[in-house]
Amino acid sequence: MNPTRIEYVDYTWNPLTGCFGPDGDKKRPQRCWYCVAHRMANGFLQKRYLAAPPILSDTREDPFSPRWWKERLVEPRTVKKSARILVVDMGDLFHPAIPITYACAVVEVATACPQHTFLYLTKNPARYQELRSWPGNCWVGTTITNQSDWNTRWPIMQSINAKVRWVSFEPMLGPILIDHPPDWAVIGALTENRGVKQVQGYDALLKTIVYGDYEERELRTVCRSLLNRFGVQDECARWIYGLTRQLVAWKVPVFHKRNLPWQKLTDNRDFTVPLEKRQEFPTE
Ligand code: SF4
Repeated sequence: MNPTRIEYVDYTWNPLTGCFGPDGDKKRPQRCWYCVAHRMANGFLQKRYLAAPPILSDTREDPFSPRWWKERLVEPRTVKKSARILVVDMGDLFHPAIPITYACAVVEVATACPQHTFLYLTKNPARYQELRSWPGNCWVGTTITNQSDWNTRWPIMQSINAKVRWVSFEPMLGPILIDHPPDWAVIGALTENRGVKQVQGYDALLKTIVYGDYEERELRTVCRSLLNRFGVQDECARWIYGLTRQLVAWKVPVFHKRNLPWQKLTDNRDFTVPLEKRQEFPTE
């Protein structure tokens, strides 16, 4: 379990790593183009991941194939002070290729650690239904990046028997209209170290043809100016503004991440009501 810079949690905990992508499988992985975990698995974590056997034995060569790290299961028990823990941010515990027994083992640890709050995230919320009910210290979430995600994933989330059903709107890739309030919403943007090469209009999804692994300062600057040149940050600011206004109207606690384009959000004169940074949590 690692202390993290993700602002809304204290730790990330990865007893499982890897994912084939929401619509991918072991034969044809289709990872999300913006997946940071996939990049890390093919970067500095590659050697460590390849040294461990994957859950599906015929995917050994793929560092981002799902792997189970049983020895990490004890980690939350070793932290006595109450903490918020993001569960499996280096993969998707609820990918269809992963037997539900792994999720059950993880939830068992949450039950044994009532001092902590465990935050789950998946792009496949239908699998949450395989657990009949969730302990009160488990916040069950789904990732939504555009309208189509909302239309397909949120109705499933509504059927989940959990105390907190939340949504991570990250990265925001288009305008989103919500027709029902989640219990909590986190909003984040594309991080700047991914170069954007093509963008379509306001009503279309942001389309990225190529993204790069740009860690150096100069490349970050190039990417930032690309984002500005194509108006991505202006578009993104409008989407964030529109979504925040809806969530506030629904009285949903909102957590704005620091990677949002704050300058664009505060400078925009089109916004009739100034957007305040919110870092709220659900009331427990
Ligand atoms: S679903 Fe999540 S973990 Fe899997 S490829 Fe997409 S971003 Fe990465």
